[in-house]
Amino acid sequence: MMPQHAPTARICRDCDGFPTVAITTGTRHPDGTRATLRITCPTCKGTGHAVPAAVVRAGR
Ligand SMILES: [Zn+2]
Repeated sequence: MMPQHAPTARICRDCDGFPTVAITTGTRHPDGTRATLRITCPTCKGTGHAVPAAVVRAGR
């Protein structure tokens, strides 16, 4: 049986709902803060939700 507690919004399988990830590059800015790269999940485009294929195909 499938668990019934899943919300209506589908979580992106690629990023597990965490579309933006900060990666520490190892370098530091002159003010002492760490330089980070922010990577946005290309699958959900930063929304964290997977878009159902049926919605994508709508409009014709
Ligand atoms: Zn994603």
